[in-house]
Amino acid sequence: MVAAINTAGVVRLKVDTLVNAAAAAERVGDRQTAFTLYREALFFDPDHVEAIAGMGRLRFKPPAQPMLDEMRQRATRRACEVTIEVRNPCNYRCFYCVAEGHNNIPVQRMDLAKIEAIYQTVTEEVVVTALECGGGEPTVHPQFPELVRLASKYGVVSFPSNNSQDPKRWLPEETATRLMVRSSLHPEAEAKIERYVANARYLLDRGVKFTSLFIAHPTRVASIPRYRTLFAEAGIPFSPIPFIGEHEGKSYPHAHTDAEREIIGLEDGVRHWTHQIQPATNRIRNFRGIPCVAGHRSLYIAKDGTLRRCLYDGRPLQQRAAQSEPCRVKHCGCGLLLDKLNMVEDIEFYNTWAGMAGIEQMPADWMQDAAARKGHASIQDALAEEHAAMYEALMEAYGKNQGQA
Ligand code: SF4
Ligand code: SF4
Repeated sequence: MVAAINTAGVVRLKVDTLVNAAAAAERVGDRQTAFTLYREALFFDPDHVEAIAGMGRLRFKPPAQPMLDEMRQRATRRACEVTIEVRNPCNYRCFYCVAEGHNNIPVQRMDLAKIEAIYQTVTEEVVVTALECGGGEPTVHPQFPELVRLASKYGVVSFPSNNSQDPKRWLPEETATRLMVRSSLHPEAEAKIERYVANARYLLDRGVKFTSLFIAHPTRVASIPRYRTLFAEAGIPFSPIPFIGEHEGKSYPHAHTDAEREIIGLEDGVRHWTHQIQPATNRIRNFRGIPCVAGHRSLYIAKDGTLRRCLYDGRPLQQRAAQSEPCRVKHCGCGLLLDKLNMVEDIEFYNTWAGMAGIEQMPADWMQDAAARKGHASIQDALAEEHAAMYEALMEAYGKNQGQA
């Protein structure tokens, strides 16, 4: 046992020495020596974060990104995303719930004073708080009104909800215009549709931004036209989204008939770039070693007030990182937060939340012309193409196309 530990320790020391020497060679521009030393380090420890990062830097070939280059030049103001962990049970049991088994977690109290201390370090013009609720319904958490008051002092707040709870109980009215409720109409709510509609109307009437999604499971598609009419009459947004999964031996959404696709609206409208590139960017989610804005422009605050990079990296941070740093975990289930491929630095992201927070937006009228000049039908198509090219370039440079997914 002692011998094994010693051998592991010697290897670690050797790899660290190689990586330090490689970094020194890189700093003085000796790329060949750096390459050789990083490669040797990776031979002994293929998971070494700094070695993967160094090798990636050397191999990275930036794809052409005319739209994004222009956007980065023009983006003079900044946004910071803050995600807060909220844990409590869900009062529903949807048959398609992906959080099944995790939707009955007892209420866990949050340390709001510690959470606020982290907000006080955020200096960006726009602060967007997202509540990360696991499989729970956040509006049933006893500290929810207090949390919303706190987070909305610093910016806008967005959270998922099944819209089952009377908003008179949980909504601090003075925060309403800074809230986005990402609601879904679930099967149990369908049985009490009047209550769902009344809760939605109450929120909308007070200035809450309210979106209503409907999971288009094959067994639910036929109800969509009825709900479209009902929601349109009540002035409530309603958006079916495809169910992704298996049902009766068929794989959805591919198995939908043309008529079902039309009912769901699968081909409608311009899709946001993040949705367009999803099939490709879900292919590999091992971003270990690739620089990521998590911990820098995107912060995760655990319920006890501990600052972390993200949900998937459990290490506590003493303070925010001054810049993007290499990812240290082997699987990323977050959105895309990579330094060279993220939404937080988009003008569109900034403007959406700045508009809600009543903060001046950045000029964006140049984007449509720029996309057309570059031969794209829409801004989203242009961004999707450039971001997809960046994803491929990163996976190639950081060795993720070699069976590390
Ligand atoms: S409301 Fe959401 S979290 Fe709750 S059971 Fe349904 S799908 Fe799961
Ligand atoms: S967000 Fe994803 S890529 Fe970034 S540190 Fe967390 S797990 Fe890694």
